[in-house]
Amino acid sequence: MVSLGLEGKVIVVTGGNRGIGAAIVSKLLELGAKVAYTYRSSPAPDSSALGIQADVTDPVAMEKMAAQVEAELGPVYGVVANAGINRDNFYPKLTTDDWDAVIDTNLKGINNTLKPLIPKMYERKEGAVVCISSISGDRGNIGQTNYAATKAAAIGFTKSLALEAARYGVRANAVAPGFIETDMVKAIPDKVKERIIAEIPARRFGQPEEVAWAVAFLLSPTASSYITGEVLRVNGAHHT
Ligand code: NDP
Repeated sequence: MVSLGLEGKVIVVTGGNRGIGAAIVSKLLELGAKVAYTYRSSPAPDSSALGIQADVTDPVAMEKMAAQVEAELGPVYGVVANAGINRDNFYPKLTTDDWDAVIDTNLKGINNTLKPLIPKMYERKEGAVVCISSISGDRGNIGQTNYAATKAAAIGFTKSLALEAARYGVRANAVAPGFIETDMVKAIPDKVKERIIAEIPARRFGQPEEVAWAVAFLLSPTASSYITGEVLRVNGAHHT
């Protein structure tokens, strides 16, 4: 039987109570990992993973979360920086509050997640980070100047971290999903959804599990051991 080598590895997923994050948590549990996930509002129903309420915009809460995971599950091998929000509007109408909320969650949230975990991964000389970017960070999107800025930044962050981390045996990669059927996409008006599907060569939205497989691959110490600083696009050929 072939294995991804994730059995017994401790992996933290931010925003793991629903959507793409919940699919990542399920996939990693299926693959034998010991999984902790964070949430802001309410835990996932029926998950056997360790759920911790911790807002990614709060560095103190994220430090406590890291300590709790280590105390309850053991040293952390993998981190998936998944938690994210959008507050879409045409740029002239975009409020500073909506700008700040998206930067705080999607970009500062990555820093708050990784800051307490990375030094220990370097000490142990093993680990893998996956940051969830987006098709919007790659090619831009109308109404998403704030969101796209954070998702492009996630790629720059990941590539830089990969360069620094390689000598410590730690890898960092990004996954850039196209449009995936979660609450975030369900909120798009039907007419706009139809227009988007017509643009996607696969002629459908992606499923959260299709992103989860890509994340599991990039976390795998066996399947992707020499892959770092990469962006894996999961988008049904929705490239440009
Ligand atoms: P959802 O809106 O379905 O879920 C968002 C998740 O992020 C929830 O678990 C939510 O927790 C969590 N979250 C939001 N803010 C915070 C916070 N401040 N602290 C902790 N957790 C928080 O989104 P998706 O599953 O669709 O998106 C997941 C990631 O994938 C995001 O980074 C998103 O930008 C990215 N992405 C999504 C795409 C899509 O088409 N769906 C496409 C490309 C990228 P809670 O429920 O507690 O609020």
